[in-house]
Amino acid sequence: MTMPAQQFASDNYAGICPEAWAAMAQANHGSAPAYGDDDWTQKAADAFRTLFDSRCEVFFVFNGTAANSLALASLCQSYHSVICAASAHVETDECGAPEFFSNGSKLLVANSEDGKLTPEAIYMIAQSRKDIHFPKPRVVTITQPTETGQVYSIDEIRAISAACRDLGLKLHMDGARFAHACAALGCDPADISWRAGVDVLCMGGTKGGMAVGEAVIFFDTDLAQDFDYRCKQAGQLASKMRFLAAPWLGILSGGAWLRHAGHANRCAQTLAQSTADLPGIDLLYPVQVNAVFMRADPVILERLRALGWRFYTFIGGAARFMFAWDSTIDTVERLANDIRHSVAPLHDEQDADQAEHIR
Ligand SMILES: *Cc1c(COP(=O)(O)O)cnc(C)c1O
Repeated sequence: MTMPAQQFASDNYAGICPEAWAAMAQANHGSAPAYGDDDWTQKAADAFRTLFDSRCEVFFVFNGTAANSLALASLCQSYHSVICAASAHVETDECGAPEFFSNGSKLLVANSEDGKLTPEAIYMIAQSRKDIHFPKPRVVTITQPTETGQVYSIDEIRAISAACRDLGLKLHMDGARFAHACAALGCDPADISWRAGVDVLCMGGTKGGMAVGEAVIFFDTDLAQDFDYRCKQAGQLASKMRFLAAPWLGILSGGAWLRHAGHANRCAQTLAQSTADLPGIDLLYPVQVNAVFMRADPVILERLRALGWRFYTFIGGAARFMFAWDSTIDTVERLANDIRHSVAPLHDEQDADQAEHIR
């Protein structure tokens, strides 16, 4: 039996989408000024200003960990703190980079079922201590969509930003899959960012189909002061910046950023729908973007692994399937079929056990 050629363990398993690839090839002609003084970088930054209808400041870095931690560091002094959900990437998957780059700003975590922060949780943490012995809350960071694939509505973001303003806090958004949230909500990107009160957005390019690269977007441009130095010091200033910038232009200018995200979201819906009727298969979270968290008996998960499927189970023990721009519906259906077949014999065995007892 052949192993599935395509895997859904992570949206980072995908290659580079054609639009990003073509733009990189186009940028690969002749010489161009280094360190971001080139036309590609200028045009890519302008494309963001057009997309967001904002005079925002835009910086291109290599990955999301750098984008988040440098953005948070630029908002904080070392004695400040950052409020986030306990499951936030900045807390669980960045190896302490936010604390490192901010020289010690502490992350204060709020537990939540679905990975979302709420105004209540923010008030509770921000007002829990007011004394000088506790790091002073300065920033709230939310992940849109969350690590569990949940999308904040426009109203939810507005409510959070209202709480932030009331408490004197800045609002940062980890948008590693920002495109998927826009596709899910069918909204203007500005509506879930600056118009809803977000000060700084880290928008992911990698999971959307680029080889590498995230954009740090300062809607409050005063906060961008010296961010270029911060990037350079952190080893995040690309010398051949045109190759980090051009793919953005490639995916933004023709709308591929949103099309690919919509496709990935539909793949997740397809898997969820075609396994919805199966006994012993439950979704840990509603499918809102490109992730499916599937709860199943460990025996079923073992069978899927034996059939060659790869997936992680780091969130609640559920199998996580992530879809990308290149996911094919055929492969999604093959996975669904394999899940169906993995479930069936288990139930037959249980039926046989029961029959045994009856006898
Ligand atoms: C993937 C991801 C990032 C970025 O991770 P890097 O591996 O550093 O690029 C950031 N936030 C979230 C929620 C992610 O899923």
